[in-house]
Amino acid sequence: MSLLRIGEVEIHWLRGGVFELDGGTMFGPVPKVLWEKRYPPSTDNNILLFNHPMLLITPQAKLIIETGLGNKLTDKQKRIYNLKEEWLLPEDLSRIGISPEEIDYVVLTHCDFDHAGGLVSKIQNNLKPTFPKARYVIQKREWEDVKNPNKRSVHSFWSINFEGIEESGNLMLIDGDHELIPGIRLQLTGGHNRGHQIVWIESNGQTAIHLGDLLPTHVHFNPLWVMAYDNYPLEVIELKEKYEKAGIERGAWFLFYHDPFLRACRFNEKGDVVEKV
Ligand SMILES: [Zn+2]
Repeated sequence: MSLLRIGEVEIHWLRGGVFELDGGTMFGPVPKVLWEKRYPPSTDNNILLFNHPMLLITPQAKLIIETGLGNKLTDKQKRIYNLKEEWLLPEDLSRIGISPEEIDYVVLTHCDFDHAGGLVSKIQNNLKPTFPKARYVIQKREWEDVKNPNKRSVHSFWSINFEGIEESGNLMLIDGDHELIPGIRLQLTGGHNRGHQIVWIESNGQTAIHLGDLLPTHVHFNPLWVMAYDNYPLEVIELKEKYEKAGIERGAWFLFYHDPFLRACRFNEKGDVVEKV
């Protein structure tokens, strides 16, 4: 398990499941001859993707950012997504010495199944919130879309991932930009999904930024390398340009959820990785 420190904030990556997706869908308009050199596909044109949530330990709170694939995938879904490694988040948490009850906040950049899958767990055939005392921090706009999906998003917002969440009383819908606790700031971006948000971490003069699925891996640095899964690709291009520049100017660490090659890195202005964990 990798670890990064941003001032007083400790960031751990937890194993939330590894799967494969069609490489072409992950690189949208980019010809395979270009992306395959930087991201070698396996057989069948698939590429390996991690779904590794981040545990943030700050002086004020413990947070989980993204929740992994969860333990509710059916055998058919495991086949479709070529599941390579199961969701091991509870095991990794306990190895760090933290119980799910200690988590104060769960932040989802958006509610697609690969980010929200671990919000609710199956325990002896019952569905239960994985982090029972946490507040679930989601953009209001994203939640509205979860409740009323369109023809496309109905395939990525799985209702089983949200069972009991509203009833728990712990759902914390935010509308726009929000400072969750000192040094942890959420920003509504849209782009990938209408209600997509990003996370800024600032502590003792150090900065990290989690761009969620605006920048799923470091290979996607080129603003034009968008995914077929991006609902508003022109917005994603603009957002990537804006936030990559903002992050690089601050010397920020960029955190990754899907990247199988590295957990976090710093870029220079050309997009070269100059430091990584
Ligand atoms: Zn994703």
